[in-house]
Amino acid sequence: MIRDTKTINSIVVHHSASANSTIQSIDRNHRYRLHPYPNGYGYHIAYHFVIDKEGIITKARPLKEVGYHAGNWGVNKTSLGVCLIGNFQYEKPEKKQLQALKNLIVELISGLLNDNIEMFGHKDIKPTSCPGLNLYPEVVKIKEVIENENHEEIEFLSSMWTEIEENKINAEQTMIRIGQRADLLRSLGFQNDDPKIQFLKKLWLDLDEERNDIQQTQKELHDRAELLRKS
Ligand SMILES: [Zn+2]
Repeated sequence: MIRDTKTINSIVVHHSASANSTIQSIDRNHRYRLHPYPNGYGYHIAYHFVIDKEGIITKARPLKEVGYHAGNWGVNKTSLGVCLIGNFQYEKPEKKQLQALKNLIVELISGLLNDNIEMFGHKDIKPTSCPGLNLYPEVVKIKEVIENENHEEIEFLSSMWTEIEENKINAEQTMIRIGQRADLLRSLGFQNDDPKIQFLKKLWLDLDEERNDIQQTQKELHDRAELLRKS
């Protein structure tokens, strides 16, 4: 079933329930149980993303295709499924897997989707042990970290917006502030592909190469704050 990606309002996190799962084994399993016909990526996998123990993310189903991963039709229709390989009832998720999960969620919230996105563990939807005793609390933690980071970023964007509005900083000073902020985020461990840093880089380059004037920059600060408020 095809849907408008704007209707997506939640992300459901699963585990594969076996330490030895591979894309191929999940594909075979879901082919028999759930999706006899291949999706737009050629898989039968119900999840939209699978994250292996190295933190490598496989796109297993196009976002616009509904996957039968949650065991609840209403939720399937409006959600994305993300599966981490492992049985987290017994083992612990790898750091790389959790980092990849967080990056993926941030990217989905800030880039692809513009609705109010909620994040769940599968057991929030129906009685199941999925995503396992050792992963579920990490899902809750990631959710909190993202909320705090969003809150902090909105504060920064709003304060810059206000300073421009009150003519306290010109284009050049704005660029310095943007650069300092990016340095701070890098020192906190954010990578260059993080959406927060990418946004700052684009803002800086647009000013530097005179694609944007200060008013346009101010508008983009506002738009990003609005996007974060919604997520
Ligand atoms: Zn599950």
